[in-house]
Amino acid sequence: MAFVDEIDIDVRAGSGGDGAVRWIRERGRPKGGPAGGNGGNGGDVYLVGVRDLAYLAKYRHEHEFAAEDGVPGGSNNMHGRNGEELEINVPVGSVVTNTGTGLVYEVVEPGQRVKILSGGNGGWGNAHFKGPDNQRPMQSTKGKPGEEGHFHIELRLVADIGLIGFPNAGKSSLLNALTNAHSDIGAYPFTTLEPHLGNFHGYILADIPGIISGAAQGKGLGHKFLRHITRTKTLLHLIAADENDVLERYKTIRDELSAFDSLLGEKEEIIVLSKVDLVTTAKQQELVNALTETGREVWLLSVKDKEILRTFTEKLSRFLGQAK
Ligand code: GDP
Ligand code: MG
Repeated sequence: MAFVDEIDIDVRAGSGGDGAVRWIRERGRPKGGPAGGNGGNGGDVYLVGVRDLAYLAKYRHEHEFAAEDGVPGGSNNMHGRNGEELEINVPVGSVVTNTGTGLVYEVVEPGQRVKILSGGNGGWGNAHFKGPDNQRPMQSTKGKPGEEGHFHIELRLVADIGLIGFPNAGKSSLLNALTNAHSDIGAYPFTTLEPHLGNFHGYILADIPGIISGAAQGKGLGHKFLRHITRTKTLLHLIAADENDVLERYKTIRDELSAFDSLLGEKEEIIVLSKVDLVTTAKQQELVNALTETGREVWLLSVKDKEILRTFTEKLSRFLGQAK
């Protein structure tokens, strides 16, 4: 299923049911007192957080939603039933904007419920208007319309760790090695066009694809995905050890991040020198030295070397444990 991360929907809360005009009927006698019931209230509309991050795809073909209307009042003072409320599921990390009012709702937890539209009140039946000097009221009121709105939903991943770096840096391989995700691994750039998520001891790891030079200006595939990391706590910045100028590579990606959002540039970041099995130990040390001017910690990684991978995994576990 394609990863849909932005969608628009039209939503309407239920309208209130009309109040009724009815009379008490007794056999063989002219009509008695008023007995028209009130209308039921229209259903409210709620957003509800769900864990399924691919949920927005369900709204690609169906984007008009309405809560149930209240039932009109009946005879014998019967109140109309209230309309059922409507729950619209959205993945956690959704930011939902009512484009008419400008109100913004954030759904961050599974099961979180946020009311976005109120149903209309039901109308009064004629029994409601009965009084000492109004024994046979003819009046009733109509139900009020439910609120309606146009909503823009945007998904921002709330990952604990975001994997960034050039295509081919080894992001998908790392995600697969650490988690049960099945990220596409390709020996050429641009294989991964969607962010992939993995679960590592309860922490969400996001493989953010396609950050390439010019992405912040919308030239690359990465632009669309950069916003997914705006709420990620820590970035693992992968740089392949067999690249020519690791410092230059590092700076290019950093520039992209800052150009997109200056706050992104300030996120906690650890440099991961990947594919170290491809170079000598002396070369590894040289690369680590070259990266010291970044001021970042540099961790060594190879998914092809069990021992290095194990050390890396332990380091990451300890880091996440402390972060919590
Ligand atoms: P991504 O574009 O950053 O997601 O990179 P991938 O995970 O798809 O990896 C790109 C290529 O590098 C693939 O051919 C991988 O098999 C290879 N690769 C990834 N990690 C390592 C590693 O630790 N050592 C070696 N030798 N190759 C690796
Ligand atoms: Mg990839």
